[in-house]
Amino acid sequence: MPDSGPGDHQLKRIVLPSGKTIEVVYFDHASFAGPRPEPREAPAERPADDERELHLCINCDSRLVYPVQWDEAGAKTWNVTLRCPECEWTECGVFTQEQCDRFDDELECGTDALSRDYKRLVTANMSEEIDRFSAALRADAILPIDF
Ligand SMILES: [Zn+2]
Repeated sequence: MPDSGPGDHQLKRIVLPSGKTIEVVYFDHASFAGPRPEPREAPAERPADDERELHLCINCDSRLVYPVQWDEAGAKTWNVTLRCPECEWTECGVFTQEQCDRFDDELECGTDALSRDYKRLVTANMSEEIDRFSAALRADAILPIDF
């Protein structure tokens, strides 16, 4: 439901599938003239399979599907465009809040796994650099001209 803003704009708070809330500012004066629209009902188009896991590609079984775009479709549904990076399959569909919550959890797990791998790689690279540098110091191979 939109909130009234001071003067020439209105604010609307939208809860994203991740649970984060964003505020959208509307500056369109024409939209202020009429009565406020009723909250949108869920569209007639219901998700075909409420149990489907959105991170799984239905074309190649990859587990790396991610959302390209999303917006509210209804009170408890989201219109989401999905993309598989392995076979380039895409789909735009309406999915339930529960599906999107599970999808968001899966995406966060993937982000955490990537972050852990990145930190391990940085640590391994730094360890190798330190080993090479200390070996060069022991061999008197580091000279003032190197700095
Ligand atoms: Zn795929």
